[in-house]
Amino acid sequence: MRIVMIGSGYVGLVSGACLAALGHDVVCVDKSRDKIEALQAGNVPIYEPGLEMIIADNCAAGRLRFSGDLVRPVAAADAVFIAVGTPSRLVDGHADLSHVYAAAREIAAAATGFTVVVTKSTVPVGTGDELERIFREEFPQKDIAVVSNPEFLREGAAISDFRRPDRIVVGSDDERSTDVMRNVYEALNLKETPLYFCERRTAELIKYASNAFLAMKITFINEMADLCEELGADVQKVAKGMGMDRRIGDKFLQAGPGFGGSCFPKDTLALVKTAQDYDRPLKLIETTVAINENRKRAMGRRVIAACDGSVRGKRIGVLGLTFKPNTDDMREAPSIAIVRTLLDGGADVHVYDPAGMEAARAVLGAVKYRRNAYEVAEGAEAIVLVTEWDQFKSLDLARLKQVMKSPIVIDLRNVFDEDEMTRHGFSLVPMGKRPRS
Ligand code: NAD
Repeated sequence: MRIVMIGSGYVGLVSGACLAALGHDVVCVDKSRDKIEALQAGNVPIYEPGLEMIIADNCAAGRLRFSGDLVRPVAAADAVFIAVGTPSRLVDGHADLSHVYAAAREIAAAATGFTVVVTKSTVPVGTGDELERIFREEFPQKDIAVVSNPEFLREGAAISDFRRPDRIVVGSDDERSTDVMRNVYEALNLKETPLYFCERRTAELIKYASNAFLAMKITFINEMADLCEELGADVQKVAKGMGMDRRIGDKFLQAGPGFGGSCFPKDTLALVKTAQDYDRPLKLIETTVAINENRKRAMGRRVIAACDGSVRGKRIGVLGLTFKPNTDDMREAPSIAIVRTLLDGGADVHVYDPAGMEAARAVLGAVKYRRNAYEVAEGAEAIVLVTEWDQFKSLDLARLKQVMKSPIVIDLRNVFDEDEMTRHGFSLVPMGKRPRS
């Protein structure tokens, strides 16, 4: 099939490359000239394990191309996916759909013959209806159907998530577009990957409901972590014991500094706003959003407390900045609020992240960027581990301790082994359990 992907960010690029690998003819479009030029020159502008190779292979096979202009590719396309950003609107927290509508109008102007427009971006319930109205009223001569196909991939594991998703949700109210979507995905092993067809509005809500539920699960275990510290229980063991119950499951039960990233914060907020508009407030999700927002700065205060109540003039090291490992994405990362709190407290903050340094420079304040964990530790009065990159799990603890001014480690992800840290003379503040001494 001839497929066009509008938006070549984390979702568009991975989806486009993986659809090409299924044998489709794919053109990835982006309005960012820099991005397209980089891609055309063989450079991948985002960090996503495995992506570079798939892009290179499929470009070489002639199935994958990049373009700044959608007119020709859309005119020839069977399906056009919209994978542009839908950030929170600054004024009110609703999803900002301006990129989606702008892309949709450009697509409609260029479309010839029957064209399926597929929203892969996360869009509020009713957006598909609005797109249909725009197409009907502004482009009455065009034959366009609108389908919702929300994306569930996780950054850092995006390739395997695309290839072996738990489900592919397709919301379509039209038989012809349902057939097109079946053809798009038929090369995936559909025995393992159920294609779940439903109405368009239902599909749109499945995405928000899923993200809100996962965000709530994370927030639940974070609150349990706080309680564990008071009660003398161990949140990791509580989570393990809970997760053994298959009705609960063991995923998304790792206590930490609060959820961040490009999806959970904005999607929970957008769902809250939608529900309020319909006079059906979602109290659980409203509370989840509020707890999580407060938690990020609270993690900064936790570091301050571990430094005897003040970080003024003290050097504090931060390990890991991205919102999770294996990505360079800094959007809504807890590190931003944590670093801010430390700077507000007068700390001299030194940071390191294996992939997020460039993105971090755009959002962090006056911090010092170091080249590795040991540089961050040099002269530090405390280190806080924010993002659990693998390389931090195998640090040379003796070397780390040697370069620190005082060996305090605040581990927001429970990466470090308590026995080993004690043996090396660290004072460890773990998450969701009492410190040893
Ligand atoms: P992103 O910001 O990385 O990429 C969006 C791209 O769209 C940018 O490169 C931008 O230049 C381009 N763009 C915007 N308007 C355009 C237009 N009119 N024409 C062409 N290109 C245009 O965003 P992302 O993280 O890939 O997310 C895209 C959507 O997918 C969002 O709705 C998001 O909520 C959803 N989603 C994201 C993830 C994730 O993990 N990142 C997972 C599931 C769903």
